Amino acid sequence: MNLHTHSFYCGHGCGTISEYVQEAAKNSIALLGMSEHCPVPDDRWQKTRMDYDQIASYEADCQKAKEQFAGQLVVATGYECDYLARYHQYYKEVKDRVDYLIFAIHDLASEDTQGGASVFYGSLTKEDLHTYTDLYCKGLSSGLFLFGAHPDLFAYSYYTWDAEAKACSKAIIECAISNNVALEINANGMRKPAIRTEEGHRFPYPLSAFWEMAAEYPIKVVTNSDAHNPALLRDRFEDCSHFAEDHNLQFCSYDLEITGQNKYSISLS
Ligand SMILES: [Zn+2]
Ligand SMILES: [Zn+2]
Repeated sequence: MNLHTHSFYCGHGCGTISEYVQEAAKNSIALLGMSEHCPVPDDRWQKTRMDYDQIASYEADCQKAKEQFAGQLVVATGYECDYLARYHQYYKEVKDRVDYLIFAIHDLASEDTQGGASVFYGSLTKEDLHTYTDLYCKGLSSGLFLFGAHPDLFAYSYYTWDAEAKACSKAIIECAISNNVALEINANGMRKPAIRTEEGHRFPYPLSAFWEMAAEYPIKVVTNSDAHNPALLRDRFEDCSHFAEDHNLQFCSYDLEITGQNKYSISLS
């Protein structure tokens, strides 16, 4: 299974929904969730996702794939959402329409102003790290999401495992526990160039120290390729499994409930 998947729709990925489903079928993936970066009505974050008016087309493509591959594999329609409280009601409506939502923070956005620096550009200050953590915990607490994607993404731009990094990681992990939301070991970070720190080379994410801390809790963990290309649908799956094993973490599985024709509700078990 893979529930974190991006197609050409996001503008920085490639492959059609149909190509992804064919790739999933070839790899005996029983559950393929498409999770395009979710556009919002005011087109905030537009550079990293489809336009708001492409929603119908994306969801229709997913629907077509569901029908085409019925009986062979389950295709779930989803979105990866950058959460702000101002979009809560909107996301709730999206969630009712599709099969599941996942959550991530890519920008240090603020409720009041447009814009917000990308977590991927420039190094994060201690203050930025706290902003990231606040945003992440608000998303996890919203009750909308199946799991939090790459919770340790801050490590892409924050290099030291200091008191701040520890406090922020602890806050994110404890928030996931208290809201019964899973956290994701994300393969996409393993594909990015390694980061050189004083302790040696490491993945930008997943961050070992984060997951060592997570293993001290009864945390629910999932893994996904976060593929932006059909050829990468299964990429690094073994590495993520080993990473989880090395950190004494076990992946949870998904329960699929059929709630309508080609419509599902997905929960963690
Ligand atoms: Zn993306
Ligand atoms: Zn993603």
